[in-house]
Amino acid sequence: MSKKLTSRAEDYSKWYNELVVKADLAENSAVRGCMVIKPYGYAIWEKMQAELDKMFKETGHQNAYFPLFVPKSLFEAEEKNAEGFAKECAIVTHYRLQADPDRPGKLRVDPEAKLEEELIVRPTSEAIIWNTYRNWIQSYRDLPILINQWANVVRWEMRTRLFLRTAEFLWQEGHTAHQTKAEAMTEARLMNNVYATFAENFMAIPVIQGVKTESERFAGADETFCIEALMQDGKALQAGTSHFLGQNFAKAFDVKFANKEGKQEYVWATSWGVSTRLMGALIMTHSDDHGLVLPPSLAPNQVVIVPIYKSDEEFAAVSEVAKGILIDLRAKGITVKFDDRDTQRPGAKFAQHELQGVPLRIAIGPKDLQNGTIELARRDTLTKTVVALTDLTNTVENLLKEIQETLFKKALDFRDSHITEVNSFDEFKDVLEKKTGFISAHWDGTNETEEKIKELTKATIRCIPLEMKEGEGVCVYSGKPSKGRVLFAKAY
Ligand code: AMP
Repeated sequence: MSKKLTSRAEDYSKWYNELVVKADLAENSAVRGCMVIKPYGYAIWEKMQAELDKMFKETGHQNAYFPLFVPKSLFEAEEKNAEGFAKECAIVTHYRLQADPDRPGKLRVDPEAKLEEELIVRPTSEAIIWNTYRNWIQSYRDLPILINQWANVVRWEMRTRLFLRTAEFLWQEGHTAHQTKAEAMTEARLMNNVYATFAENFMAIPVIQGVKTESERFAGADETFCIEALMQDGKALQAGTSHFLGQNFAKAFDVKFANKEGKQEYVWATSWGVSTRLMGALIMTHSDDHGLVLPPSLAPNQVVIVPIYKSDEEFAAVSEVAKGILIDLRAKGITVKFDDRDTQRPGAKFAQHELQGVPLRIAIGPKDLQNGTIELARRDTLTKTVVALTDLTNTVENLLKEIQETLFKKALDFRDSHITEVNSFDEFKDVLEKKTGFISAHWDGTNETEEKIKELTKATIRCIPLEMKEGEGVCVYSGKPSKGRVLFAKAY
């Protein structure tokens, strides 16, 4: 298969799909809507996991694990949550297969092995977790509970895309329990902040923090905070969510605690999650027509060294220098790979590392040995420079920092230049036709208007920004009073 990608200008969606497959990140599987995450893609996900896990622990959370299955009666308990996820549930009805008398050599469901109670494959774990918390919480002394789990969930999505929307996906889900409303609200905001910091500092993806409107809110939540990012094609992507669940799950599962005065009260809850969708956000924020572009903090290999040689002697001499560089860079905590495969020519190696987004490539050939230099290529700018071997470690260290910052700055400039303020519905439609991105507009706060705008333009309210521009105005659609501007966009 040719390594060349369809360009983004030609067909953005085709470019995305090709990139995911050709850069060896993931591929479709035999199960509709479910993907195989390949080692290179998984290595990037592991980097995200490691950083997030650290941030969760720094904010006082612990990891635990709850079952994959939720008995249907528990699933139903919080009605709004159940109703919201009902259409996307996979259900286990039987627990055994047997030889099929009508199809020799084949199996069928054993009709005798029907489960007494059907099991839902978790689309999210509030139900099973709050059923468990009932046993863990008696008094205020048992609170707060600050738990996260790394898991897979299943949502039977009809239109799926690798990483962005899959039927099974990997994620983390935090589930916390608190004494007071204020404490739970603080937690929900804190975790949204953690996501924003992670997205910006680690993934170099600028995000807008906001709250969802009622129609976009998580089923069962009283408030959903989110981080919204803008992809290169001008579509928005919900990159993470943090929910204030009020006492909804505590009431559904009868989770009460005795407060300091000995009075019984329902517990307050939050839940928050990010998923493998972040891989999609990463790709669609930074990558180019040559392939993946990785911020150094997420690159499985931050530097790759490619030897250039003709003879065994040359290879030996180049290798010696390369190994010295490996030791120096690793001592600084930089991840570096010496690509000494003799099954590939340097040109093919260059192409592969470019496609896979390795931030820095070092090439060393016999001429460099004479001159005491190496050739250094930057993936983000596709520029090459010849650099002295002495002081290489510092050069690399500084460049990695610079690349991380440049990628963020570039994405931020793009995002900021794709937020357009409009003051009429004609302007709204006009902007949507000519330019993509976020539209900042006044909205009257009603479901009906939101629905109508969605129906007419396909744009949805991505969020009411936390830093909403104050000021009264009139709704672009209805002309009714508005409390401030919200962000609309077409979204993934
Ligand atoms: P939610 O529990 O619906 O708030 O979702 C938590 C996180 O998972 C959000 O960041 C979503 O964007 C993400 N997410 C939701 N559905 C999917 C899906 N089908 N595939 C991948 N990620 C998803």
